[in-house]
Amino acid sequence: MTATVERMVLGPVQANTYILTDNETNQTAVIDAGDCPKALLDALGTRDVRYILLTHGHYDHILGVPTLKAAFPNAQVCIHALDADCLRDPQKSLAAAAEIREMPITPDRLLEEGDEIALGGTRLCVLHTPGHTKGGVCFADYENRLLFTGDTLFCLTAGRTDFPGGSYEELLASLLRLRGLDGDFTVYPGHNRATTLDAERRRNRYMRRLGV
Ligand SMILES: [Zn+2]
Ligand SMILES: [Zn+2]
Repeated sequence: MTATVERMVLGPVQANTYILTDNETNQTAVIDAGDCPKALLDALGTRDVRYILLTHGHYDHILGVPTLKAAFPNAQVCIHALDADCLRDPQKSLAAAAEIREMPITPDRLLEEGDEIALGGTRLCVLHTPGHTKGGVCFADYENRLLFTGDTLFCLTAGRTDFPGGSYEELLASLLRLRGLDGDFTVYPGHNRATTLDAERRRNRYMRRLGV
C-alpha cells in the first residue's frame, strides 16, 4: 500500500501537522493539529478522515483538534493514555503557561505501546516514547518507512525534557530505541523539517552520544 504525506505548519509555535492518506482507499489520519485553519480543512477536502492522532498532549499540537473534530465527527481522537489528561487540563498541556485558552477535548481512543492504526492497507504502529512527555508516542509505518516522531526526535536534535512529566533518562532510552529500529525511515518530526533516521543516527548529537 502506498501512502502520501503532506505537511502544514500551524499554530502559535509553528508545529507540524501531517496529513497521511492511504492512496488506495483515501482513508486519512491527521497527525497533530496545532490549529485548524480553513487551509487545513480545504486540504482535507473530501478525504475520509478516520483519525486525529496526537503524538503528545502539549497545546501546540492539540489546539486545532476541537475544530477539526467538529468538521470530521467520525474521526477518532487518539492519544496515549498517559497524556490524555493534557486534553482537559491547560496546566498539563502548557496552554495556561502560554496564556492560551483551549477547549477541552474528549479522546475517543487511548493508545498504548504496540497498538495498530489502520488506514485501508496502510498501518501505523504506536511506539511509546516517553521523555518529552510521559505519554509521548511515535507512529511508524514499517511498509512505507515513515516515522512520525512528535517532539521526541527532531532533525539534529531532540525534545526538551524540562517540562512537567519530562525525563532526560526516558528521552535517551526512547532515542536509543528509535536508533535501533531496523532500516531507514523518513522522519517527520513535530517541528521543523523532515529528516531520515540514518542521517540522525550519524549526525544527531543525542543519538551519537548514546552507548552502543
Ligand atoms: Zn511538546
Ligand atoms: Zn511541540
